[in-house]
Amino acid sequence: MGATVLRESRQNQHRHVVSGHVAHGLRHLRFHCTRCGNCCRQFRVPLTDVDLARLVLATGRPPSELVDWLSPTEVDMTGEPESFVVLPEGRRLMTLAWRDEACRFLAANECSVHADRPMSCRGYPFSVTLGRRGGVRRLRLLDIRDCEHTWAAQQNVRNVARQAATQEAELVRFTQRVVAFNRSQRLRRRVGKRLLDDGAFYETLELPTVGPGADAVAVALPGLSVASDFPSSEASGFRPANE
Ligand code: SF4
Ligand code: SF4
Repeated sequence: MGATVLRESRQNQHRHVVSGHVAHGLRHLRFHCTRCGNCCRQFRVPLTDVDLARLVLATGRPPSELVDWLSPTEVDMTGEPESFVVLPEGRRLMTLAWRDEACRFLAANECSVHADRPMSCRGYPFSVTLGRRGGVRRLRLLDIRDCEHTWAAQQNVRNVARQAATQEAELVRFTQRVVAFNRSQRLRRRVGKRLLDDGAFYETLELPTVGPGADAVAVALPGLSVASDFPSSEASGFRPANE
């Protein structure tokens, strides 16, 4: 089996929808991160276009330096086949690049892009099922076997719901873009044209452009905010992924 990713596939999440009006699993909100950094060494982080846009703006690095493209055999994401992009080398999942057996942004056990980290990092270790009105219907914990957490005061459930809703909206948007790109790739294949590469895929995502050196030029992405506007995002240094 390939590497595990830092969030649950959408298909699996939907399997856990429960009936009734009582929120399940709210006791998990007492989860407290001790900043051990293990999750940043254990899981691969799937990226959406908005995740990538935030990181391009924050780091000034081009997408090609921020992404590892993983094949279906390298990553366990069978529950979300629609997230794989059709490239000349086969179907690939866009994930955050690793260096030295860990996320490339883990530095001295701290997240160096905390305010701009991907949504999957913000959400870990929660798997949230939202109700029709946007409240938390069910809360489960993902794989926390190597997570050196403790239990402390309960986190605000509204923040968790807001984070989950944003993550879902960004994922839906990204999936639509992948589906459209893959459709055009299959058409190209059918008429005997060469398949487009990852560079062409980045172009379809309309990412911010990166200036010379390490400067990123902020551009408005149509229909979305790339602002790091979540609670605690102004903090520097490593913070719990789910804060
Ligand atoms: S929290 Fe930061 S260091 Fe950890 S996986 Fe996410 S981006 Fe990388
Ligand atoms: S979420 Fe868990 S594994 Fe990740 S840094 Fe915090 S305590 Fe460690």
